[in-house]
Amino acid sequence: MNYSISQLIEIYETELSTLIQPSNPSGRMRLSTISIPVKGQTVTLSNQQFRIESVERFMDFKPTSSIDDLLSDEDKKIIHELEAEGDTPIDNDGEFDDDPYPDPDQLSGGEWDIGGEGDQINMNDHPAGFMENDSDVKWKDANAGDDKETTIAYYRPFHSAGMAFGIYYKRNGLKLKTRLIFEFCRQRGYQVTRQQVYLIAKIMTQFHEIYHHKVESIASRIEVVSRKPIYLGGFSNWYKRTRGLALCYEETFANCYAYQKTMQVLKPFLPVTALHNMMVFWFNAQPTPYRNALQLIQNKTNLWRFKENQFFEIILNKFFPGDPRYGKQHSKVWSMFTHGSHPYINTNSNVYFIV
Ligand SMILES: [Zn+2]
Repeated sequence: MNYSISQLIEIYETELSTLIQPSNPSGRMRLSTISIPVKGQTVTLSNQQFRIESVERFMDFKPTSSIDDLLSDEDKKIIHELEAEGDTPIDNDGEFDDDPYPDPDQLSGGEWDIGGEGDQINMNDHPAGFMENDSDVKWKDANAGDDKETTIAYYRPFHSAGMAFGIYYKRNGLKLKTRLIFEFCRQRGYQVTRQQVYLIAKIMTQFHEIYHHKVESIASRIEVVSRKPIYLGGFSNWYKRTRGLALCYEETFANCYAYQKTMQVLKPFLPVTALHNMMVFWFNAQPTPYRNALQLIQNKTNLWRFKENQFFEIILNKFFPGDPRYGKQHSKVWSMFTHGSHPYINTNSNVYFIV
């Protein structure tokens, strides 16, 4: 049986959520009041109202596609704006809040102690730097402090957003990211267009956001067998308690995944060194948990996957405190859970909104 994402959300809201938290009112009430957002509607993200400019299907990037095939009508509109603006942006928002969990889902986990030895994942590997010996080229915002946070997109989990779940891009955020990377490329002497840089920025962003969905996917699978609130009480809870800190591992692994997938998709179009440098530039300008991806992406043996397993084990351990069968030291067992975090979204899912 192969369910669509909307059928899976219905199963979650009507069946699974009541098994996990029987005291909650029936999910059926929620389904009747939530619908898939459409163009022209407003949506609230981080307490700000945005108008939905475009609703699209999730995009499956194929390495063989030409750049034009990868761009939606809304993308083309945004690129046209970028080209027309040139070096004088008309909507350079600058600072945004960063919050992939904008919905007021409750913290349903216990009052955890976070930050003990068992919660630490060692990130001291060999940080990635720029490839090639041209380190004198430096964009002025590289090594920005942790107060620099930019929101390009949001992932709204179905656990709290119901049918309004999905990846929400901020078109101004995509434009800002494109401008910054384009300027970096220009200073490096890369021969790339704004259209190409926009695509790179968007693909990186998409895979970063899909990783947040992958976390919700594996959490949901564990909920099926454990009947414990692994997502809202676990991963989401952890995120909210560690936001901005090195312990906010989900952002580290989201960037590792984005790096790996972007490289895979765009290798046919651009030299690996240029792609690597653009991503290093971008990660380097982000807050600590995002930037920590630089500690892991150099490693050819997918070191970050081992660290990711430690993270899964740390979260599960919170539901079985004191039980020696759970804990970071047992993270190897996750290698048995092949495809555990495989995403539920597919190319037929309507999960892609530009606001
Ligand atoms: Zn993120």
